[in-house]
Amino acid sequence: MNEPGLTAAVQRTEDPMLRAYRLWFEHTRKCADCKRVHKAQDGCEDGRELWGGYRLARLGGTV
Ligand SMILES: [Zn+2]
Repeated sequence: MNEPGLTAAVQRTEDPMLRAYRLWFEHTRKCADCKRVHKAQDGCEDGRELWGGYRLARLGGTV
């Protein structure tokens, strides 16, 4: 049985997280520094900022 209310709640919490992750991921594809490193924390300033936003969104989604 499908529960529309539950699905909507999951999407609401996932959306900001996925958007932040996509922003960071798209940056790593364009940025030579972030493409080279294997950890987001080793990337350039912009990359680390985007990664920080993703981590915040992820924490915010679980609270
Ligand atoms: Zn970068």
